[in-house]
Amino acid sequence: MKEKIVILKCDNYDESFIYEKLSEGIKLLSLKKTPNKILIKPNMLSPRQPEEGVTTHPSILSAIIEIFKNKKIIIGDSPANISKPIEEYWIKCGYKKISEKYKVELKKFDISMPFDINVNNKTYKIPITSLINDYFILNVPKFKTHNLTTLTIGIKNLYGLIPGVTKTILHSKFVSPYDFSLFLVEFYKKIEDKIFLTVVDGITGMEGDGPSSGKLRNLGHIIIGEKPIYVDYVCCKLIGVQPEKIDFIKIYIEKYGIDKFEIIGDFEQIKDFKLPSTRKYFFIRNKFLSKLLLPIANFFKILPVIKEENCRKCYACYNICPVKAISNDLKFDRKKCILCLCCFEVCSYKAIRLKKSLIAKIFT
Ligand code: SF4
Ligand code: SF4
Repeated sequence: MKEKIVILKCDNYDESFIYEKLSEGIKLLSLKKTPNKILIKPNMLSPRQPEEGVTTHPSILSAIIEIFKNKKIIIGDSPANISKPIEEYWIKCGYKKISEKYKVELKKFDISMPFDINVNNKTYKIPITSLINDYFILNVPKFKTHNLTTLTIGIKNLYGLIPGVTKTILHSKFVSPYDFSLFLVEFYKKIEDKIFLTVVDGITGMEGDGPSSGKLRNLGHIIIGEKPIYVDYVCCKLIGVQPEKIDFIKIYIEKYGIDKFEIIGDFEQIKDFKLPSTRKYFFIRNKFLSKLLLPIANFFKILPVIKEENCRKCYACYNICPVKAISNDLKFDRKKCILCLCCFEVCSYKAIRLKKSLIAKIFT
């Protein structure tokens, strides 16, 4: 049977409106399976209010819980920034209220089991939440740009199934956006059968320098499908981006292929969607600056720097840096920095900007 992707026009977060829309969308999708135990995995990147557009809106979660109310449901995530208590995330993101209203348990992924993930003929033992043994995943990403992977939607949200700080450490093993995308694809492939539904919160999305410091954009859609790869593919089309230009989609298609699929609903392309400012930089660096040109590559740089006026000295950036490139007086070491952008992602105060060297400015 052909994969189906349903696109629903939805311009506000009114709970009952979303419930109506989603119920209709899920009927159109005619799910192949509806498991009895469901783990809802939102994007809970930072402890930020729903209006800030960084995390999945709680109204989407409420609607999902209403729809599947006769099932055993839990909500789970495990943010990379472990310096803040998980309780703060649940409260700020609005999930605590939902858990109380619907008597749904909130779970931090602190118990994990190792999975063998093979990337480029090398096997890595990666911890993943052990909840995946008993539960099927209902993946609820936010539609956002991402400075490293260009977009974070269905596939990238699943990276959050890896508990806490391991997510950051992996950036030091898969440094370039391309290598990181290779990992994302193999990780996704390993758990693909445990995901039964993806619902994208694309009502308010983020463009530009996401996933936490971009510009909010009213995209006005919820996109749903059973397989995240098809969902991500259609999301690209929706914002006028050629899917094969996104590394993890390209890698997936080249290695595993995708079948013909059907788009149901209100497909109307969103115009002038802005991708991250780093995209061109990474493209040139990976495509043209081979080892032979390494001396030039040293002058073709982007370095995160702190905007003193915004910085609250919370040390989230310092704590998260996988290669200890940030000193305890918050200075960045350009030689150590691998440009994983974890610091940029984790800063809740838009206090980190990306400074391009002169050569990078000229060419990007
Ligand atoms: S730059 Fe951001 S994350 Fe780093 S200390 Fe300042 S406020 Fe915290
Ligand atoms: S300074 Fe920031 S971008 Fe550089 S390696 Fe550390 S976390 Fe990554």
